[in-house]
Amino acid sequence: MKKEVVIIGLGRFGTSMCRELNRLGHDILAIDTDEEKVNEVSDCTTQAVIANATDENVLKSLGVRNFEHAVVAIGDNLQSSVLCTLILKEMGISTIWVKARDLQHQKILEKVGADRVIQPEYEMGVRMAHHLNSEKIIDY
Ligand code: ATP
Repeated sequence: MKKEVVIIGLGRFGTSMCRELNRLGHDILAIDTDEEKVNEVSDCTTQAVIANATDENVLKSLGVRNFEHAVVAIGDNLQSSVLCTLILKEMGISTIWVKARDLQHQKILEKVGADRVIQPEYEMGVRMAHHLNSEKIIDY
């Protein structure tokens, strides 16, 4: 079923989610303060907007409250990431997934109501360790 997803922050993580969700047939509203980043995803989103996602009025005017899913992919700016998550939570978005840079960031996001917190580098490191562990490596 087609989903409507708002993606905030178009770094490598947010951009790759945009491209893949588009390929899978979903509708995407992408938001970033950086014009260049926004232009880069204009071909794979329903709407791509240059805006500050920590401004509640901006999010309201973009109709973000009508979206069922939100992804906050602002990694480095902890304050913006937390504030944006809080606003989305208060708007009543039903699933909010947020990228965190470390465990402390993750704990704060969980407190403000993120439904899923992702630490990409950490999670991928664990997965790769398991892949390597299960490989049949013969050392001659
Ligand atoms: P990645 O690892 O996915 O490349 P990152 O974790 O380094 O990204 P940042 O570079 O901090 O994350 O942020 C990702 C994007 O979020 C940037 O393109 C930045 O312009 C955007 N961004 C930061 N703050 C805001 C904001 N308040 N509103 C909208 N976009 C924002």
